[in-house]
Amino acid sequence: MSPSEQELDAALAAAHLPALVLSMVHLTGDPGWLKPEWRPTYTPLARGDIGVPEAEQARLRAAARPVIAAHLSGELKPAPTPGPELVRQMMDFIAGTEIPAGYVDFLSDELALSGDSSKTPDWSEDERRAAGSMKVLVIGAGMSGLLAGIRLSQAGVPFEIVEKNAEVGGTWFENTYPGCRVDSSNHMYSYSFEPNHGWPQHFSTQPVLLDYFRGVAERYGLRRHIRFETTVEAMDWDEAAAQWRVRLRLPDGAVRTETATAVICAVGQLNRPRLPDIAGRESFEGPAFHSAQWRHDVDLTGKRVAVIGTGASAFQFVPEIAGKVARLEVFQRTPPWCFPTPHYHDDVPAGMNWLLEHVPYYDKWYRFFLFWTATDGLLPAVKADPDWQGPPTAVSQVNAGFREMIAQALAAQAGERADLAAKIVPDYPVGGKRALLDNGVWVRALKRDNVALVTEPITAIEPAGLRTADGALHDADVLIYGTGFQASNFLWPMRIKGRGGRDLHATWDGDPRAYLGMTVPDFPNLFMIYGPNTNIVVNGSIIFFSECSVRYILGCLKMLAASGARALSPRVEAHDVFNARVDAANRGWAWGAPQVSSWYKNEKGRVTQNWPFALVDYWRATLAPDPEDFEFDKATAAVA
Ligand code: NAP
Repeated sequence: MSPSEQELDAALAAAHLPALVLSMVHLTGDPGWLKPEWRPTYTPLARGDIGVPEAEQARLRAAARPVIAAHLSGELKPAPTPGPELVRQMMDFIAGTEIPAGYVDFLSDELALSGDSSKTPDWSEDERRAAGSMKVLVIGAGMSGLLAGIRLSQAGVPFEIVEKNAEVGGTWFENTYPGCRVDSSNHMYSYSFEPNHGWPQHFSTQPVLLDYFRGVAERYGLRRHIRFETTVEAMDWDEAAAQWRVRLRLPDGAVRTETATAVICAVGQLNRPRLPDIAGRESFEGPAFHSAQWRHDVDLTGKRVAVIGTGASAFQFVPEIAGKVARLEVFQRTPPWCFPTPHYHDDVPAGMNWLLEHVPYYDKWYRFFLFWTATDGLLPAVKADPDWQGPPTAVSQVNAGFREMIAQALAAQAGERADLAAKIVPDYPVGGKRALLDNGVWVRALKRDNVALVTEPITAIEPAGLRTADGALHDADVLIYGTGFQASNFLWPMRIKGRGGRDLHATWDGDPRAYLGMTVPDFPNLFMIYGPNTNIVVNGSIIFFSECSVRYILGCLKMLAASGARALSPRVEAHDVFNARVDAANRGWAWGAPQVSSWYKNEKGRVTQNWPFALVDYWRATLAPDPEDFEFDKATAAVA
């Protein structure tokens, strides 16, 4: 096809120029495109600024124009895939810095220039045959469960997915509150092997995300494997038969027990709403609901509304409802940090989508840019310096500088409202909790005449409203809980009994741990995706973690099939050593700092949620299971 002049102009105007340069290297085979004067210099929090003078940008666009035209007219085919040394130079170019040597194989795998990645199952015929007699049960058809289904079918392993809801999508099916959208850039928050060149926004809204996951379920033929409205209530490991006995609640309410060789739990961390433990909660007379169970039948127009919580969910729905209600009181316990992100609600320019679709490798390098700059590249800003002597509002000099920059941006938004500025700047370090993306709508909503940010602690919920510590009654017609999820309560409310009848939740005793977040000693052939210590605070998309976990879990199934054993579970020592490392490392980050309290920590103060290393470390640790880390069912053969 030949693009029109206007199409090309629009595309070049919207291009992320460093990604465009790298596409040109692919198309022409000429590394001469990596000119020092076109190399980007990024400024923190100043997206879009690549530090290349306008005149050079114009030169670059002019040079790219005939190359793209020649490619689209069929005259120019992409050159052979560049060798590793050139790819390395290309990575350094787009990152605007030298990528550390330890990242190159990891990032090359993420980039998947040739289409292959370590995450695609690569099973021999023998392995497929051996696994053919397995029956794997996946719990959940959200982002992780669908992914597990895709990889299991690619490997030829028989499986079924059970899903408690009537549709796929998990979090993207359940959270329908006004303003719900993704807060990791969509060109990265998508499966690495399923790019979408048509995201309407950089951070698309919930219906768009749900459509994406529905589309994936269709394309991979997953629906015929899924049993909807089916809930796992309990699972018991049957030692004699070496299989899980799974008690299911069926759509008609009946209970049935079925068996599975292995179970993959893909139930998410942020799935079961948490209501605050405030006296009198049941007494409120008006409608009261949680953000994840939004009552669309309750018309908020002209109502007095109270919102508890100022986390990621409230941050999105408060600006949406503020203009509709008569009065809105937002009850804040701790303010969130927010990163200035002016393009948070912006559409993806049509020219950008055109480039993603038509210019070879542009999509891969744009994703790479997002991946590098929004993931491990951010870690130094939240690393705790053990010698830090400054105030507890930061954990290092770099962190303090970051704090200053963001605090100023928040205070500038509050403007003449000094009272508001004092309330919205957190006193804990940046990175203590996941920062939210700020394009100004939050503070604008809080500044409205009909909105108040209440920081007085809530002492009781009464029939007419909320009572605060100063004795005031804040009357309300509707109460909305933006109070988050029972995140530390992994796999709850399922009842899971492993070897010797050991109960998983009793074993954890409020302190869930797993080996690499996936397996637990004495719970054979049981795997978790997004399990303990696999969440991230600043670096990246959870889809990356799920892809790594699924690769590893399939590696375990392959190892099991090849071994001839009936079951595997991690060795206690491997599990304990790993968890000791995790705990020590978590203390070295802003989110592990003692002055920070959050849902990342359990009641004992241990960080149960977060991965305390870099993404590259999870990638490397999950490349393939090490047989030495596992015990194999001794009833039959040992591992080869
Ligand atoms: P959250 O981050 O856990 O926030 C809960 C809020 O409720 C916090 O402000 C918390 O205050 C407050 N709260 C809890 N109990 C309270 C009590 N008893 N009294 C007063 N305030 C109370 O929950 P969320 O906003 O639903 O978000 C959870 C996670 O879901 C996020 O971190 C994110 O990972 C994910 N999420 C993502 C998006 C997205 O954009 N993609 C959107 C929504 C959610 P404290 O901070 O003081 O505890």
